Amino acid sequence: GSTIGILGGGQLGRMLAVAAAQLGYRTHVLAPDEESVAAQTASSYTRADYHSRIVLDELAAQCDVVTYEFENIAIGPVEHLANKVPVRPGAQSLSIAQDRAREKAFVAALGGRTAPWALVETREQLDEAIAKIGAPSILKTLRLGYDGKGQVRIRDVAEAAAAWEEIGERPAILEGFVTFSHEFSIITVRGVDGALASYPPPWNEHKDGILDKSTVPAPAEIARHWTEAAALAGRVAEALGHVGVLTLEFFATDEGPVFNEMAPRVHNSGHWTIEGAECSQFENHIRAICGLPLGSTALTGTRVEMENLIGADADRWAELLAEPGVHLHLYGKGDARPGRKMGHVTRVKRA
Ligand code: ATP
Ligand code: MG
Ligand code: MG
Repeated sequence: GSTIGILGGGQLGRMLAVAAAQLGYRTHVLAPDEESVAAQTASSYTRADYHSRIVLDELAAQCDVVTYEFENIAIGPVEHLANKVPVRPGAQSLSIAQDRAREKAFVAALGGRTAPWALVETREQLDEAIAKIGAPSILKTLRLGYDGKGQVRIRDVAEAAAAWEEIGERPAILEGFVTFSHEFSIITVRGVDGALASYPPPWNEHKDGILDKSTVPAPAEIARHWTEAAALAGRVAEALGHVGVLTLEFFATDEGPVFNEMAPRVHNSGHWTIEGAECSQFENHIRAICGLPLGSTALTGTRVEMENLIGADADRWAELLAEPGVHLHLYGKGDARPGRKMGHVTRVKRA
């Protein structure tokens, strides 16, 4: 059998390893984490950072294809690997998606709508950006932000100094505040041969900046944007030469879908696909990177709901298991810190 290398040690890698095993592949996780929940389901594990050439060369020798489960890996190691073994998605997807300015410019060039935004690299540029974009607006670090971390809302120019300090005086973008009715995502997958498939868009609800719930089918306010948003996601995947799952987040507005950000990977808002779609986002990612035909993205029921278990929420497992037909996923993390994603539950309505 073949071996798939996975860079990254979190729950996305864990779920990719499970899907890979079902298709008969071995997986090898490379991650620096002291506690890697991906390593628990992978065939083998190297605990090391991504910068050691020796470790990378060993991984390349062991694997037939390498993928990644998070986008904050330095490009250098990925390019080094790509000289020795196919890395899917490629370095292009990674470098665009890990930079908010580049991803917005890339998507806008392909016809996507974005909030007005400006690059902010100095304290002075923040004042200029506020003058141009206005308030309320959101200052977001260019890189490394997730779950609403590394961003701060600015209601008035008087808050600029504090906001700049709060994000650590790092390169950022200032984004105009979008008035939207709903948030949704397009989870799309592209094969080695260029074949494209995308899932019905989930309605994503957030709590404290973290995804709380995804529901499919989405309400009409989202459904009316499905065709346009999915076509855009397809163009983005093609332009990147992307192979594997690619996720785009959108705001639903009266003017149309407004692109927020992308992830060059499987996504939390696609966890419902494990039981709620004919072929899950994880299996489709594995199929894509291994050159297999893509699977159906059709729903298995009439309505699917995914709820994240954050921090102490996961303590509800006994109560949740008592519910007929519920699908409980716990990620095997030891420490239920507040705000930490510990698991999720999926409910599929069949009638
Ligand atoms: P993720 O965990 O999805 O990667 P993130 O930290 O990268 O999150 P964003 O997705 O950009 O951050 O923003 C988090 C949330 O903040 C969004 O889902 C949305 O609810 C809100 N938000 C972000 N940008 C805007 C905006 N321009 N206007 C209004 N709300 C916004
Ligand atoms: Mg993000
Ligand atoms: Mg987001």
